[in-house]
Amino acid sequence: MTRTLITGGAGFIGSHACVEFVQTGQEVVVLDNLSNASLRSIHAVERITQKNIPFVEGDIRDADVLGKLFHDHEIDSVIHFAGLKAVGESVEQPLKYFDNNVNGTLRLIEAMTNAGVKTIVFSSSATVYGTPEHCPISESAPTGAVNPYGRSKLMVEQMLQDLFASDPAWRISLLRYFNPVGAHASGEIGEDPNGIPNNLMPYISQVAIGKLPFLRVFGDDYPTPDGTGIRDYIHVVDLARAHVQALKFLRREPRIAIHNLGTGQGYSVLDVLKAFETACGRKLPFEITDRRSGDVAESYADPTKANCELEWRAEFGIEKMCADSWRWQSSHPEGFAD
Ligand code: NAD
Ligand code: UDP
Repeated sequence: MTRTLITGGAGFIGSHACVEFVQTGQEVVVLDNLSNASLRSIHAVERITQKNIPFVEGDIRDADVLGKLFHDHEIDSVIHFAGLKAVGESVEQPLKYFDNNVNGTLRLIEAMTNAGVKTIVFSSSATVYGTPEHCPISESAPTGAVNPYGRSKLMVEQMLQDLFASDPAWRISLLRYFNPVGAHASGEIGEDPNGIPNNLMPYISQVAIGKLPFLRVFGDDYPTPDGTGIRDYIHVVDLARAHVQALKFLRREPRIAIHNLGTGQGYSVLDVLKAFETACGRKLPFEITDRRSGDVAESYADPTKANCELEWRAEFGIEKMCADSWRWQSSHPEGFAD
């Protein structure tokens, strides 16, 4: 039976994707170097699905590991999550990001070419839109990343577009995620950031659990209804389901395609805080501080293309995103270290 290779499958989004693929009756094999994940997430996926998940600890930049992987397993497609994602770190260590994200993807594509596997779903990001001219953002909006992380995503998109132009036998899905949050409803897997979180939802979660004293709201003077930044938060399980649909789409329509993955609904920082307070049952302390440099006032998707072409729609709202994040955080205060 053919399998889908899930690179970065031990990570936040990858582990949720593993669950969706296995629960829809598909065989997977996971490759992850565990640089930002724990093997415990794979064990948790096994508990949720009641299935054994073949796992290889290794790096996408390692040609020997990839060669053996494609030799040992009958792989017909790749869902490519592996990569680094911290914007601030990418500014400080750009080469690390270009090596992991761009060179890593190049090595992966070479190994796929050698193995005759020409179907790939790539984790891109709404960050490729840079400072959007207007919202909602459709796939035809101009791109222009504003930091090395974003540029690494754009470079990979361009590399894959050039690859398709040279060989139309490739089937390539470029998925531009908006803001993935939430956790699996079982409370077994979720986001487990290292150190102090940069992103809003894990930060609020840690305030709610008492690990951090208060939320800093980065600016309340944006041209938005309550003055705080607006984003399109998407439940990670909805996002994971979109990957199953993207692979089905590529099997139906052998081509390259770009899709935005968001709900189309924007929420402000204060909206998210309020929804989280409802989920955890108490008021959470916050302070308004200066804007964070590089932040845009608002970013939310026009998900129409994904809705139509992938036959997919985000189902879960902000209440469930917060409730599931809280279930994961409150049952695993130390993440997978618990
Ligand atoms: P994550 O860090 O939880 O998962 C990435 C996984 O890849 C980790 O398990 C890590 O150990 C692994 N990895 C990293 N470099 C590797 C390498 N060279 N070889 C093998 N494994 C490697 O991150 P995530 O939030 O699950 O993100 C998954 C993908 O989605 C990333 O490519 C990220 O850039 C992209 N993305 C994430 C977000 C977000 O906000 N979470 C938004 C847009 C796009
Ligand atoms: N934000 C905030 N305090 C935090 C983290 C984030 O006010 O501690 C705000 C941030 O300014 C933005 C929104 O929350 O308006 C989402 O930020 P996040 O870092 O989660 O996502 P991104 O900015 O990458 O879209």
